[in-house]
Amino acid sequence: MTEVSPRPAGPPGDRILRAITDDGAFRVITLSSTESVNAAIAKQRDHGAQGQLAHLFADLLTAAVLVRESMSPDLRVQVILQSADHKSRIVVDAQPDGSCRGVLLLPTPPAGVLDPPAPSPDVFTSDGALLQVARTLQTGAIQQGVVSAGGGVSEALMQYMQQSEQVVTMCAVGSLMKDGVVTSAGGYLVQLLPEVVEGPLMVMTERLKDFTSMDGLLAKGAAEPETLMKELLYGMAYTKVAERDDLRFACTCSPTRVAATLATLPKSDIEDLLRDGRLLDIECDYCHTRYEFPPEQLRGMLEKN
Ligand SMILES: [Zn+2]
Repeated sequence: MTEVSPRPAGPPGDRILRAITDDGAFRVITLSSTESVNAAIAKQRDHGAQGQLAHLFADLLTAAVLVRESMSPDLRVQVILQSADHKSRIVVDAQPDGSCRGVLLLPTPPAGVLDPPAPSPDVFTSDGALLQVARTLQTGAIQQGVVSAGGGVSEALMQYMQQSEQVVTMCAVGSLMKDGVVTSAGGYLVQLLPEVVEGPLMVMTERLKDFTSMDGLLAKGAAEPETLMKELLYGMAYTKVAERDDLRFACTCSPTRVAATLATLPKSDIEDLLRDGRLLDIECDYCHTRYEFPPEQLRGMLEKN
């Protein structure tokens, strides 16, 4: 039932590495996300995730996972890329358990148009496009930040980190695609820790000029998390502090959650639904699983309200 894209030949599945330099100056995260983004794209392919839009979707998913990994372990992160014309959005979530998912929300074509042209990917990376990051704290409180996305996903991510999290961050995300399938995807993030002194900062700033294009690193085969970590921290003593291999596409929807959302609807809305007397069919936008609610169940919700 679930189509999982075949794992591309080569290195093993998605991985995240985290390290800290022994001088306490830098925290570095490297990750590969090929399988997760492919699985997410497969679910959205019929809903706009093709060509350059699929590429952008892949990069945004990788970015959300990077942001999540840079924060405390129990935080949930949602990243929204809003098009410059405010007509389209790409929404991605990264969960503490390593799962991620995403959805493309593109304009509905006018009635009668069967094969509408996809929006140009440029609307997501031109002036006026916005990147919004929301993280949900354990208490349920949400903290948000919005930055311009005119310079692309990696650039917007750095701006967000600087402005909203007040952490000097250098990062890049990227993906390579062939015939509609992502052959490799990944990214890195380097953060300056409070102990940083001028010397290492200058060295790192200079070095990262060679690492600005993640697509270039992927093409050179230099983007496996282990290799990338070694390259980024070449000549510096560091300690690997965490490693995880549970990064994957998975949706958080379930019959209980969908029912819980339905139950919050005003009584009159549920009565309207019941008037039809048919099965209520709800599809999850992220994973396209369908949930059916028979009239008896809807009636039950009315009684509980
Ligand atoms: Zn779902």
